[in-house]
Amino acid sequence: MNKIYDIACIGGGIMGCAAALQLAEGGMNSIVLDQGDLGQGASGVNAGTLSLQIKRVKLMPYAIRGHQEWESMGDAVGFKKTGGYTLAFTDHEAELLQERMRLKAEAGAPIELVSNSVLREAEPQLADRVVAASYCAEDGYSNSSLTGQFYRARLKEQGVQYREGFKVLGVEACNDGYVIRSANTTVRARKLLLSAGAWLKSLAALMDVDLPVQARINTVSVTQRLPMLTRSVIGHATGLLTMKQKASGSLLIGGGWQGRGTPEQGRGQVDVHSLRSNLALARHVLPAIENAQILRSWTGFEANVPDFYPLAGKLPGYEDVFILGCVRGGYTIGPYIGKLMGDYILERKTELPLFDPGRDFVEVVA
Ligand SMILES: Cc1cc2nc3c(=O)[nH]c(=O)nc-3n(C[C@H](O)[C@H](O)[C@H](O)COP(=O)(O)OP(=O)(O)OC[C@H]3O[C@@H](n4cnc5c(N)ncnc54)[C@H](O)[C@@H]3O)c2cc1C
Repeated sequence: MNKIYDIACIGGGIMGCAAALQLAEGGMNSIVLDQGDLGQGASGVNAGTLSLQIKRVKLMPYAIRGHQEWESMGDAVGFKKTGGYTLAFTDHEAELLQERMRLKAEAGAPIELVSNSVLREAEPQLADRVVAASYCAEDGYSNSSLTGQFYRARLKEQGVQYREGFKVLGVEACNDGYVIRSANTTVRARKLLLSAGAWLKSLAALMDVDLPVQARINTVSVTQRLPMLTRSVIGHATGLLTMKQKASGSLLIGGGWQGRGTPEQGRGQVDVHSLRSNLALARHVLPAIENAQILRSWTGFEANVPDFYPLAGKLPGYEDVFILGCVRGGYTIGPYIGKLMGDYILERKTELPLFDPGRDFVEVVA
């Protein structure tokens, strides 16, 4: 009979790893299981933007605390607080920007509207057709490709076991918890945390629960090394662009443009039409990249539910199975909401409320 863990976290992205660390801090003997490597999913391929300006108003308290977590993780995750500008190029975009940023500032984010001359002085290479701009000094970025190695080291330090290459294919209840089955081995745990990102739907289906999880297929691109063009994180009022230039000179371009594929089929593919529009918007905002070479474009799967709020609580119908995922801007919020989830499972009072996965989902526009 193999050892029984207090809890198994299925999915070793930022959510599963951050929760496992908190569970360890609370004295739970946990194991993290991932079908591939830790941080190989969305948490390891995302654009790395840590921007309060692109977070939903209701999630602002979580994002602000998420930023504090990133700051404390520091160089080990390539954290840089650069400040960030969000730009509007038409009157309609300016109206959108002003209204959204007002609400976000009311929710606690230190966001201010700035004049064109302030913007030009800070970022002279940006297009000069800007109608309105906002600034947040807290914005910045981290290097998502360091997620796996960062959490591997932290889990080891805390004595938390993890198994990579453990694809969960079945979960069966037994008298003292659950038997979790991969192709060639099993693990036993008293409780489960489902933290499988865009694969949450298929994972929950193993337990006969149908979650309304959908996957978005976001695209990110990186350019060759360029002379320094911008020092801040740059966004667009529509939310369709994020840009940051790394110390190496390469520029990372994202904005949630959609590729093709499904999480079950593999890594997803870049869609050339979508990519072209993404790059055209980047060039519109930063004309100096007109002739820059794109070295690589890739996609990753981001999970969401119809109301675009997180799933963070008990799996409907189960007392000892929990879910954490579908967090919009989940890389930013992950280290914090993972801690909250850990506290919830440890039956501690959580600092902020969680998001009941059994709620009625009201469809909203993303
Ligand atoms: C391209 C892209 C760009 C993004 N840019 C940003 C950004 O700039 N800023 C930001 O804040 N957010 C961004 N996001 C969102 C953010 O990356 C995600 O919200 C966050 O990483 C989700 O973390 P997670 O742990 O829930 O999921 P994941 O990181 O996807 O982790 C889920 C893990 O579960 C594992 N798994 C799945 N099924 C099984 C199974 N059956 N058995 C075992 N393991 C399994 C997977 O291998 C994976 O490692 C972006 C997302 C994408 C895809």
